[in-house]
Amino acid sequence: MSSYPVRPSPSGSTARAIVLDERALPRRWYNVAADMPRLPEPPLHPATGKPVTPEDLAPIFPRSLIEQEMTTERWIEIPEPVLDIYRLWRPTPLYRAIRLEQALRTPARIYYKYEGTSPAGSHKPNTAVAQAYYNQQEGIRRLATETGAGQWGSALAFACAQFGLACTVYMVKVSYHQKPYRRSLMQVWGAEVHASPTSLTQAGRKVLAESPDSPGSLGIAISEAVEDAATHPDTNYSLGSVLNHVLLHQTVIGLEAREQLALVGEYPDVVIGCVGGGSNFGGLAFPFLMDRLQGRRQVEVLAVEPTACPTLTKGKLRYDFGDTAGLTPLLHMYTLGHTFVPPGIHAGGLRYHGDSPLISRLYEDGLIGARAYPQRAVFEAAIQFARTEGLLPAPESAHAVRAAIDEAVRAREEGLERVILFGLSGHGHFDLGAYDAYLAGQLEDYEYPAELVEQALAALPELPR
Ligand SMILES: *Cc1c(COP(=O)(O)O)cnc(C)c1O
Repeated sequence: MSSYPVRPSPSGSTARAIVLDERALPRRWYNVAADMPRLPEPPLHPATGKPVTPEDLAPIFPRSLIEQEMTTERWIEIPEPVLDIYRLWRPTPLYRAIRLEQALRTPARIYYKYEGTSPAGSHKPNTAVAQAYYNQQEGIRRLATETGAGQWGSALAFACAQFGLACTVYMVKVSYHQKPYRRSLMQVWGAEVHASPTSLTQAGRKVLAESPDSPGSLGIAISEAVEDAATHPDTNYSLGSVLNHVLLHQTVIGLEAREQLALVGEYPDVVIGCVGGGSNFGGLAFPFLMDRLQGRRQVEVLAVEPTACPTLTKGKLRYDFGDTAGLTPLLHMYTLGHTFVPPGIHAGGLRYHGDSPLISRLYEDGLIGARAYPQRAVFEAAIQFARTEGLLPAPESAHAVRAAIDEAVRAREEGLERVILFGLSGHGHFDLGAYDAYLAGQLEDYEYPAELVEQALAALPELPR
């Protein structure tokens, strides 16, 4: 393997780690809405079908985040107390995957931005910290949220602890029992964690009355958290992906990566990220897309999703609910239908029926490409990555690894010296059960569930006229 020559970057560097000093931390978030050729359609009120107003959202979100959700201002100042917490782990490292390049014998240079160094082990604290801060500033005492596998719940629990806020997490019941260590992590940071459906909310009691053994779902947990926030004046709701302000906060990832690549004289030909609701992908890709939208660079941007939940590659761009119960505003997004329940793949963070409206619009306008992979091919890539680079990817992040490897192999076949950048959104230390299943040959590939998607798409909401 080491016989394959290492190709220096344009600046002559063969560094494996490109690390920025904390003084290089970005001071502003980048808002892609300022540069998009077409903005997303506005969210609609589920009862009236009219665009939601800031007042509609005020019972569950702080004013500052509602403003960020709606603004087209290009740069948003990051408050000093947020920067202060970012400094615990930011800037995150950018690595050159030299040993993976050698194993693949590719002329491509592969870089990855690693978000697994945060306290919660993923990119999610980038927005959790900002959201906790703005809520605390506006006198809120407690945040309520949902979590599937526990990544978002643990990020918010950490952030609330930093700002002295209470945190209530509705955790999907199956995960509550299957992923006890993420639950423990949330409890260590002081959060109250409930297995959803609970008897604490009307939404939960309704589900329990109909099916006492319900394993829960993300949709049910969202309904419970929103109800909790809406019925307690000192409590707000917090969402970890999909919404504009969440993607805005995540742009620190791409802004740093752009600086880091510039240090070694590089600019990516392609930027790759995995997509659940779209926040780590948008956060990495938008600052590069800015260069393209402003006419400075040609860069390709690739979103990667599971074949079991192929929102961009098989879904439709329509108005749909964010939750299963149909309580949230209608978002204009690529969706598989809010009643679609994806197969139980191990990349729990990618099992969402919809996608960020910003990413949906950019995809529709041909500015973003998309590709889907089955989970065995994804784990195969994760293992190759772990054995060469050392880091253990989260199953979600491993989708980006798969695509990066395929791009590097294509570069070899075509004799192209491409520069590939991908996002390694988190580590897989809490996902070893999934790796065990893969190594034991017990992991199944789920085909694209065409019939279920068709049914769910047929159940999309009618818009009031
Ligand atoms: C939650 C999560 C994702 C998916 O969410 P996005 O909003 O699409 O980024 C991806 N990777 C990791 C590690 C996650 O925790």
